[in-house]
Amino acid sequence: MTCRTRFAPSPNGPLHLGHAYAAVVAHDVARARGGKFLLRIEDVDAARSRADLVPEILADLTWLGLEWDGVAALQSQRIASYAAAGERLKQMGLLYPCRCTRAEILAAARKAGADGPLYPGTCRGRGVDPAEVPGGAAWRLDMARAVELAGPLEWEDELAGWQHARPALFGDVVLLRKEAPASYHLAATLDDAADGVTLVTRGRDLFAASHVHRLLQALLGLPVPVWHHHDLLVEADGRKLAKRRGSPSLADLRRGGEDGRALADALRAHRFPAGISLGAGVEGGA
Ligand code: GLU
Repeated sequence: MTCRTRFAPSPNGPLHLGHAYAAVVAHDVARARGGKFLLRIEDVDAARSRADLVPEILADLTWLGLEWDGVAALQSQRIASYAAAGERLKQMGLLYPCRCTRAEILAAARKAGADGPLYPGTCRGRGVDPAEVPGGAAWRLDMARAVELAGPLEWEDELAGWQHARPALFGDVVLLRKEAPASYHLAATLDDAADGVTLVTRGRDLFAASHVHRLLQALLGLPVPVWHHHDLLVEADGRKLAKRRGSPSLADLRRGGEDGRALADALRAHRFPAGISLGAGVEGGA
């Protein structure tokens, strides 16, 4: 089977070196296997996405010498497919509406303690009427029910090996949101299937999310890819690079006259700027 992998940036901030590294890894994996390198813009969350950054992202990749196959996919144009999948999960009795505010969720999680779930299921069985929730309800996956329905699942990371899926780590995740039509988990899983992605290449910061994605694939009858979670570029404190902590944007480097292809080659050779190395990325980065 031809390898099809992808780079899927969210246009809510300019790309930086960490993104460049991720794009180089995905691009090179595809090319080394005679496969396809796809580009997907994850702009499903209209409140956080900036349309003006999309042409910048395309220019950054071209500057790095990374050519993608076909046209870039935009999540904002695929909302109907997310809604349809959400409807299907609702009909399966796997989603329930939640009216908790961010503050309530934090307070409940604090009460559940460090070992408790991220969301203890406050609205499960509460019979929330979605029409009554100001701004619309968020729809959560009834994790216990979903896990029971799907049965034991496994997935393969080509670097870390086979994994037993442990989606329950996340508790009842939100799949449909008030402010965005679908959460990252639902949109990314559906898109990878729609695009025929056989290898999900992304950073290790999203390793745990793959437990949830594997579950969604089982629930929705989607094909199961292999994953490739690569190391992240981290700062001396182990945290992944972030624009807000001073990592220069690719757009700034590009406009400053830096050679993008030489930069991509340096990343391939693991020659990083001072203080930056590869790591797993400890909590606290963004
Ligand atoms: N959009 C995500 C990000 O920019 C990546 C999602 C993925 O590769 O699955 O971090």
